[in-house]
Amino acid sequence: MTPELIAALTAISATIVYVLLCWVLPFGRCRACSSKGTRHTLLLRRVTFCRRCKGSGLRLRIGRRIYNTVHHAREQADAAARAKTPETTR
Ligand SMILES: [Zn+2]
Repeated sequence: MTPELIAALTAISATIVYVLLCWVLPFGRCRACSSKGTRHTLLLRRVTFCRRCKGSGLRLRIGRRIYNTVHHAREQADAAARAKTPETTR
């Protein structure tokens, strides 16, 4: 096995694992609040809700966000194509 083949197989397997992770567990821990849902403000150190996760402690993974964006764009394109073409057979 050449080093290039090993590097390619490693990259492909890491991609497959990440896609499966985004499919099985679409939400990950919020890094801003360490999955607590609250944060301390900078000036007065008051406890407030985390703005990134809106207090849930979870965030949508980047891969899942990309999948959702592509899926919704494809649905809108299909709906536009269906509305544009006249119905012929009924
Ligand atoms: Zn958070």
